[in-house]
Amino acid sequence: MTSNHDQSPLSPLRRLPSVDTLVGHADLALAIREQGRPAVVDAVRCVLDKHRNRLVSCEANAEPPDESTLVHETVRRLTLATRPIVQPVINATGVLLHTGLGRAPMATEAVEAAARAAAQYGSVELDLEAGARTQRSRALEALLGQLLGAEAAMVVNNNAAATALTVAALATGREVIVSHGELIEIGGGYRLPEVITGFGAELRPVGTTNKTRLSDYARAIGDRTGAILVVHPSNYVVQGFTAKPSVAALAELARARDVPLVHDIGSGALVDVAPFGCAGEPLAAQSLREGVDLVLFSGDKLLGGPQSGIVVGRRDLVEKADRHPMSRAVRIDKMTLAALEVTLRIYLAPDRASERVPLLRMLAQGSDGLRSRAQTLVEGLREARPQLEIDVVPDEAYAGGGSAPGQALASWSVAVRPAKDDSVDALASRLRQGRPPVLGRVRNDRLLVNLHTVFPEQDATLAGALETATGHSN
Ligand SMILES: *Cc1c(COP(=O)(O)O)cnc(C)c1O
Repeated sequence: MTSNHDQSPLSPLRRLPSVDTLVGHADLALAIREQGRPAVVDAVRCVLDKHRNRLVSCEANAEPPDESTLVHETVRRLTLATRPIVQPVINATGVLLHTGLGRAPMATEAVEAAARAAAQYGSVELDLEAGARTQRSRALEALLGQLLGAEAAMVVNNNAAATALTVAALATGREVIVSHGELIEIGGGYRLPEVITGFGAELRPVGTTNKTRLSDYARAIGDRTGAILVVHPSNYVVQGFTAKPSVAALAELARARDVPLVHDIGSGALVDVAPFGCAGEPLAAQSLREGVDLVLFSGDKLLGGPQSGIVVGRRDLVEKADRHPMSRAVRIDKMTLAALEVTLRIYLAPDRASERVPLLRMLAQGSDGLRSRAQTLVEGLREARPQLEIDVVPDEAYAGGGSAPGQALASWSVAVRPAKDDSVDALASRLRQGRPPVLGRVRNDRLLVNLHTVFPEQDATLAGALETATGHSN
C-alpha cells in the first residue's frame, strides 16, 4: 500500500514553500530583472522538483530545506545557466589543431581586425578609390596572387564549402574522377563521396586503395568528365606497396585532355612546415606551379587564421565557381574576411610568420623551453601538494585537425597521479569544469598536462587551476 504523502498534515512535502513565495523572494529580484520572470519560475520549479523527489523517496522523516536554501540553490542554478557556452579554455592536450577546441588560435592583429570589422562599418564590398561596388569573395585575390602566384582567388566560409562549390560549379551532372585511395572521411561525418554526389555530380573512382596509376586516370576521362579531384589524405597515410602519379604528371594529362584538375590540399600550410616536424604537407604555391587548375585549402588549419576556405587558380574556373548560385550560400563573413586578410599579410614576410602566427609559434618552439616550463610548474605544485606524485615527463604533441597524420612532435608534460581517494577521471573532470577550464589527457592513471598548446602567458593561471583541482577530491 502506498501512503498518500500530499494529504498528510505532517508531510514534509506540504512544508515546502510555493513557487510564488520563492519567486517573490527579494534575493531573486535581480535575476528576474536580468533573465526574465519565466526563467526564474523555471529554475524555482526545478529546484522544488528536485527536493520533492528526494522527500518522496526518503519517506516521512526527511526534513524539507528552508526557504533561504531553496533561494540560494535557485540563484546558483540561474548563474550556471548564464555561463557562456563558448568559453575560453586552456588546451593542455598537446593537439595543436584541436577541432573540439576551435582549431587554430589567431594572431593578435587578426583578432583586432575581426573585432574592428564587427564593431564598425568597413569597406567589405566597396572600392574606396573608385567608389564602386566590389565582390567580397574576391577581395583577397590580389593578396593571394602575391603570396601564391595565383591568377585568381576566392574565399568562402570553409574548405568543405570550397569543395562542394567547386564540385557543383564544375561537375553538376558530370563525373568527378577520384583515386580510391583518396576517398576520405574527415571529422564530423564529412565523406568525400557523399559531398560529390550530394552536390549533383557523379563519383568516378579509379585505381585501388593502395595503387592508382596515371593510366587509370587516363582511361576514366571521357565526355562526361567534369573534373579530376586529387585529395590530400590529411588524416591517414597509405604506406607500403603504394603508387600514385605525381601532381605534375596528372596536370599534364588533364591539360592534354582539357579537363580541370582540382587539388584539395586540406591544411594549406603557406610556409614549409617540414622543419617543424610536419612532413608531407602540400603547399598551394607548389601545386599551382605544377599545373593544377584549382587548389583548395582551409584557413584555420596550418595557415593559422580564421575558419575559411580558399580557392586559388585559373581565372575562368574561379569565376565559374563564384558565379554559381551556391556561392552566396557559402559567403565569407566580414569578420572572417578581415582576420584572414591580416593573417595572410603576415605571410608576406615569411620570417615573421613563425613569430606572429600562434600556430606556427607553437609548432616551431623547441622542446627545451617546454621542459623548463613544466619543471617550474611541477616545483610549484609539489610545494602546494607534497603528498602527490607530480613529475615532468617526456610526451608527444600532434598537429591534429587533419594535418601531418601520425607525426609526433617531441614535447613535455606535467604528470599528476591523483591521491588514493581520488581518481584520474574525477581530477580531469574538476579541471575541465574549473575556471578557466583546462583540458588535459589521461594516460596510465595519470593526468598529463601538455605544455605544447599552452601559451606561456597562461602558465600562472594553469598552475592555479592545477592547485585548485588537486586540492580536494570528491
Ligand atoms: C580539413 C579538410 C577539409 C575540410 O576543411 P574545413 O575547412 O574543415 O571545411 C577538406 N579536405 C581535406 C583534405 C581536409 O583536410
